[in-house]
Amino acid sequence: MGIEISGVSKSFGKFVALNNVHLNIQAGELIALLGPSGSGKTTLLRIIAGLESADAGEIRLFNEDTMNKKVKDRMVGFVFQHYALFRHMTVFDNIAFGLRVRPRRTRPAKTEIRDKVFSLLRLVQLEHFSDHYPAQLSGGQRQRIALARALAVEPKVLLLDEPFGALDAKVRKELRRWLRRLHDEIHVTTVFVTHDQEEALEVADRLVIMNNGGIEQIGTPEDVYHNPVNPFVFNFLGDVNLFRCRMENGVPQIIGHGSEATDSTMSVVPEASQVYVRPHLFDVSLLPNGSTRIKGTIMHINPAGPTVKLELVSEWNERIDVNITQEKYQSLKLNTNMTVFLKPIQMHSFREP
Ligand code: ADP
Ligand code: MG
Repeated sequence: MGIEISGVSKSFGKFVALNNVHLNIQAGELIALLGPSGSGKTTLLRIIAGLESADAGEIRLFNEDTMNKKVKDRMVGFVFQHYALFRHMTVFDNIAFGLRVRPRRTRPAKTEIRDKVFSLLRLVQLEHFSDHYPAQLSGGQRQRIALARALAVEPKVLLLDEPFGALDAKVRKELRRWLRRLHDEIHVTTVFVTHDQEEALEVADRLVIMNNGGIEQIGTPEDVYHNPVNPFVFNFLGDVNLFRCRMENGVPQIIGHGSEATDSTMSVVPEASQVYVRPHLFDVSLLPNGSTRIKGTIMHINPAGPTVKLELVSEWNERIDVNITQEKYQSLKLNTNMTVFLKPIQMHSFREP
């Protein structure tokens, strides 16, 4: 096992940042810790690294207890959101740093360090930048150098805390694909923290979805996306619309908007429950179509993008987000203020807690 996290808890004063977290990470796996801001991701990462101590529980790295291990003896590499490169050092010196500061008996020879640095520069595809200073690099290049520097000491575990968080969208996308390919090449056990669900779904072997200091679900990207265990996970992995529904002859019938779920009608319809529908999982038509349908008025249309985004107001006066294809948009000749009918193609429901 690469990393075993057992019953880890951590509080800051009265605030519980981590509450009894259990997680096993296989050697060579790339795990994404995904969750909203404040859910405890960084705290967990810092505890794995030994930069923070847990109040309870234990961390084992490659079957060894870390209790009495100092940060530098844990063999972890760390990359943060904000480039921690040394400004006054060249790229070469930045990457070599961790090897040069080793005690004399474990320090590699000069030529060995040189070979190592250049092989890492090739790995991160920046071999022509060895003489540059950090200020002469783009944000994306700096993060690749930070990664090379973290890898120089051959860590058993690589911890990445929102490493692409400060970069613009296009560069982030390129870098996460690059990271995925890099990981396929070197297979170092990696924990990647992000609050961006798209990034996590694309990069990771498995996702760990965190909320309020605990784990909501662990699974492959496909698994968590298609089989979310609760509304939190479903909501966090993509846009959703929430409705109330009632079973009629075994068919769920939408009877209102979910946000009214606590109103008085709820108590007279005991079998009413909530269903969730993703914006792209509606069939839109100009006339009523089938039994389960929702009437809505188009308030806003955004056709710029791979899909057309419609903002509707339902007959219950609540907002509904719908995405349709460009073809569908053209063929229906939709305009604002038009009334349309929505039939959910797929509804998701969860048993009430
Ligand atoms: P995330 O990385 O998921 O955004 P963090 O692990 O950084 O979350 O923080 C979780 C919670 O713990 C936050 O509400 C944060 O304010 C709190 N916290 C983190 N570190 C400290 C600290 N050193 N002192 C006090 N509170 C902290
Ligand atoms: Mg954080």
